[in-house]
Amino acid sequence: MVRNIPDFPVKGIQFKDLTTALKDPEALAIIGDALAELYAGRGITKVVGIESRGFIGGAMLAARIGAGFVPIRKPGKLPADTIKKSYSKEYGVDTIEIHADAISEGDVVLLHDDLLATGGTMLAAYDLVKTMNPDKVMVNFICSLPALKGRDLLPADVEVTTLFEF
Ligand code: AMP
Repeated sequence: MVRNIPDFPVKGIQFKDLTTALKDPEALAIIGDALAELYAGRGITKVVGIESRGFIGGAMLAARIGAGFVPIRKPGKLPADTIKKSYSKEYGVDTIEIHADAISEGDVVLLHDDLLATGGTMLAAYDLVKTMNPDKVMVNFICSLPALKGRDLLPADVEVTTLFEF
C-alpha cells in the first residue's frame, strides 16, 4: 500500500510515499498496532518523533503504550528554550531542535521516524537526545531502505527496529 514515486524530490530518488497506507483506516490501525506490539511493556516514557512524518506514527504509538510524545523540529518552530544539533546532509547542513525540558534523566526514550534511508537524520536526533541523559534510547522506523545502509550509521549497541523493508 506504499506508493513509489520515482525522481521525487530530486532525480534518482525512489520516494516511498506512505500517505497511501495512512489514508486507509485498516492499514493505519495495523501500523499503530504493530508498533505498539513491539514496544508495549518496555517501560518507554517518551516517544520522540522527528519532523514531520515521524509525528504520525510517533503519536499513534505513544498513545497506545501510555507514553508521552515529544517533537523534534526544524529550527525556529519550538516556542520555549531548545537545544540544537547540526548535521551534514547530502547537500549542505541541517539543524534540528528539541525543547530543553522535554526529556529528563530517568526517561526511557523511543526515537521514531517513518523511514530509515541513510540514517543521517536519526543519528543527529540520537545524539541530541543522548545529551539530555535519559536512562535508555531505542530507535524505530515504520520502514527502511536497507540498501542505503543507514543502520550502520547508528551505534551498534542501540536497538533499532522497522516493521518492513524495501
Ligand atoms: P535519512 O537521513 O537519509 O535516513 O533520511 C530520512 C528522512 O528522509 C526520513 O524522515 C524520511 O521521511 C525521508 N526520506 C529519505 N529518503 C526517502 C525515500 N526514499 N522515501 C521517503 N522518504 C525518504
